[in-house]
This record gives sequence, structure tokens and C-alpha cells, in this order.
Amino acid sequence: APAVEVRDLRVRLDGAPILAGVDLTVAAGEWVTVIGPNGAGKSTLLRAVGGLLPAPGAISLFGTPSESLRRRERARVVATVAQSPVVPPGMAVLDYVLLGRTPYIPPLGRESAADLAAAYDVLDRLDLAGFHDRELATLSGGERQRVFLARALAQGATLLLLDEPTSALDIGHQQEVLELVDQLRRAHGLTVLATMHDLSVAGEYADRLVLLADGRVVASGAPREVLTERLLAEHYRASVRVVDG
Ligand code: ADP
Ligand code: MG
Ligand code: MG
Repeated sequence: APAVEVRDLRVRLDGAPILAGVDLTVAAGEWVTVIGPNGAGKSTLLRAVGGLLPAPGAISLFGTPSESLRRRERARVVATVAQSPVVPPGMAVLDYVLLGRTPYIPPLGRESAADLAAAYDVLDRLDLAGFHDRELATLSGGERQRVFLARALAQGATLLLLDEPTSALDIGHQQEVLELVDQLRRAHGLTVLATMHDLSVAGEYADRLVLLADGRVVASGAPREVLTERLLAEHYRASVRVVDG
């Protein structure tokens, strides 16, 4: 079964149609990035896939209808990194990563040796071994994004949902974070579903881009098939005008 199967997903928020019948399939091991202008519905789509918005009947994860997953089962299947994750004030890196191991019980001081080992392992792999005791608020954007990834990886889920993982980063750190996600995906057989409104690096690691505009999928395919002048001019009107000055 595909990692993600979305069929005719319709979402209304505050009475307004935000997603107007979205179909999307992500194969196991694939990296799909959803692009589209601000307000297109990218975050809403990701939230629905992650189970943070009800979407009865529309979404299956690895062949199982999303709504029939229990919370703990879901935590093993899918991990979400929100666009701007809420970080409890004063929280240290290691404690934050431990939240990924035990998302539904208070972890502090109650973590098992296995959970601690898993958190250390993930922090090592993301080059964060020296950061265990650092307060998250003191990290750079790129370091913080790696910590957010670490929490998601610590969860042990096979599907990673990354909402705008690069939007807060400068170009060097964008490359670094995407390269890291790609390495992790290959090393651990992960599936990646990301969103990016900025097109500068959107096509570099994704197997496929899906262009969302006004709550609908208007194009899907290899990056070079979607990043065409015609499609972007049609659906990124405001941004294109800004680029043109
Ligand atoms: P994107 O991530 O592509 O920028 P979003 O999914 O965040 O788009 O939002 C899509 C549209 O839905 C926007 O017009 C936004 O204002 C609207 N929207 C998002 N969340 C809510 C909400 N909770 N209530 C009402 N409208 C919302
Ligand atoms: Mg937005
Ligand atoms: Mg968004």
C-alpha cells in the first residue's frame, strides 16, 4: 500500500472551502513536496494527513484508514514537524527530543533507558551531540530545525511530514537541512511529505512536486515538469510580480 493515499479531501474552515477535493498518493520511500502560493492550503493538507484535522474516509496511511489508527499507533506511523513548532520556554534539546519518544505521557524524569538511548542516538546522527543541555531558544535557525527533525525521528515513525522545513533558514542551511532529510530517508527507508512555498530549493531533493492552488492539485510530476514558467506564472502570480519588480 502507498504510504499516503488522499482521496477527494475536502476541508472547510470557518465556513470557507480550504481544500476542494484533493487527491494525492505518496509511495513508500518517496519524497513528495507540495508547493503553492501562500494560502493555497498546503499546511491544511499536511495537518489532515497528520491526523490533526478530521478527514473521515479521505486518508489512508500504509493502507489503514487514518481515522482507525489509535494515537499510539499513529505516533509510530507518522511524525509531523510543524512550520513553527511550539517550544516550551526553557526546554533543553535533550528533553525536547525525548518528547518524540513519549508524546502522550509526561517524560521529564520518567524516561526509560531505551528512550534515552534513542534520543542520544538521534542527536548523534543529526550532529547535535554537543547540544543536549542547550536551551532551544538559544539555537540558530538551522540548529533548531535539526532539533525539530530529531524529535520527529526519535518518534520512530516511517512517514515524516515537514511543513515548510526551510522557510526560516538562509540558503546554506536550507541545503544542509534538506540534504540531511534525504540522507535519513535513504538510510532508514522513510517517506517524506513536505510543503514549501519558496521554490528556490523545492525541486532539489523531492522525487515529485505537487502544485496546490486554491485548494486543488493543479499539477503533479517530476520537479522539472512542475516548475515550468507557464504553471508558475499562472499560479504564483503575486510572487512572480514581486520577482519581476
Ligand atoms: P498554506 O500553508 O498553503 O499557506 P494554509 O493551509 O495555511 O495555506 O491556509 C489555507 C487557507 O485557509 C488560508 O486562506 C487560511 O487563511 C485559511 N485558514 C487556515 N486555517 C484556518 C482556520 N483555522 N480557520 C479559518 N481559515 C483558516
Ligand atoms: Mg501560509
Ligand atoms: Mg503553510
